[in-house]
Amino acid sequence: MRFALDETHDCLTQSWAESANDAESDFPLQNLPFGVFRRGNEAARVGVAIGDLIVDLAGLYQSGLLDDAEVRPAAEACLSDSLNGLMALGTAPRRAMRRRLFTILRAEATSNDRETARRHLLAQNEVEMLLPARVGDYTDFYASIFHATNVGKLFRPDNPLLPNYKYIPIGYHGRASSLVPSGTKIVRPSGQRRVGEAEPTFGPSRSLDYEMELGFFVSAGNRLGEPILMGDAEEHIFGVCILNDWSARDVQAWEYQPLGPLLAKNFSTSLSPWVVTMEALAPFRVAAFTRAEGDPAPLTYLLDAKDNAQGGVDIWLEARIATAVMRERGVEPALLGRSNVRDLYWTLAQMITHHASNGCNLRAGDLLGSGTVSGAEKSARGCLLELTSGGKEPILLPSGEQRRFLEDGDEVTIEGYCQRVGFRHIRLGRCSGIVIGQQ
Ligand code: MN
Repeated sequence: MRFALDETHDCLTQSWAESANDAESDFPLQNLPFGVFRRGNEAARVGVAIGDLIVDLAGLYQSGLLDDAEVRPAAEACLSDSLNGLMALGTAPRRAMRRRLFTILRAEATSNDRETARRHLLAQNEVEMLLPARVGDYTDFYASIFHATNVGKLFRPDNPLLPNYKYIPIGYHGRASSLVPSGTKIVRPSGQRRVGEAEPTFGPSRSLDYEMELGFFVSAGNRLGEPILMGDAEEHIFGVCILNDWSARDVQAWEYQPLGPLLAKNFSTSLSPWVVTMEALAPFRVAAFTRAEGDPAPLTYLLDAKDNAQGGVDIWLEARIATAVMRERGVEPALLGRSNVRDLYWTLAQMITHHASNGCNLRAGDLLGSGTVSGAEKSARGCLLELTSGGKEPILLPSGEQRRFLEDGDEVTIEGYCQRVGFRHIRLGRCSGIVIGQQ
């Protein structure tokens, strides 16, 4: 089986790190996501989350706990300030590291493992989380047919879905330099906007939006000129995070034709700091999205029986908003939308394969975005453009405020989680950002 389950998915195994056993914990023993952290002015280091703690992998390696032949390559790759080295090794070393960490952190660990590992734990709340990788290139797809249809309707009521949509995983090249970790303030961008038929003007965006997306990192890359076949595509994925593709809709509407978005989206893209590995996601794999009767089958290079049977991922995403007024009054953040990655029209493997199908080389640490994840229901819309029908139908918040688009002081938080009966629920953590006005 492709997404093999092993002892690391056993829901009954607990950790001696007590907070990981809390049913509400984002990071139980069965998750073990990788991230990059910094304590004070120290150098950035690679860690793994367990409950509300972080295992410092460099410390663990130096103490000798990761020093066996199978685990050493991954451990040495983690003596770094980014995950790129570990990503470049591909799946087998990562899997070996996961199994070793599971053994060290489980309640049944040897007392030597436990006592040694205890010396290399930090509290998550005493460190700063950084971007997990040095991202060379970032590409954002448009893989939700519900999002594409809803957005298409706003711009082209008679012809919402362009004829290429069901054949090509549509995407655009984003910008890596403005990727920021969760918690980074988002400065409202300026740009050219045009209202109606008037001459365009330049100024702060009046329709700033969020986009609720899944991000996924490339592990081992491919050589320039050598495509990635569908059967191999999953081997090129390291893991997933939450991505917010902040978007200035007024700028986008004016600039996007004929070459696609540019400044409307490249001012900031937020990422959650913990990368949940494909191994941790194994219990949550599902069939690919079922295409409607009459839809074309994917072209052969994007077609794979195994991917069709289990290339989907059952990950819930939820976006919430807290305005400045809501925070002042202590009002809980309000749910904007909840959707599931399994409803994407294209699988992660299809996006990887398509991207490399012309010989384009993907490199370890490259980031791909799914595009806004929306579902069939109105409650499953992944951005304000869809939720407010382009700003025409404002939403009402519990504070009595209305929103067409984001105002200064608004904080958007996206969370992600996986749940399945018989398995430990795991979470992706959170990706948040607060919009601030120009200084
Ligand atoms: Mn996007």
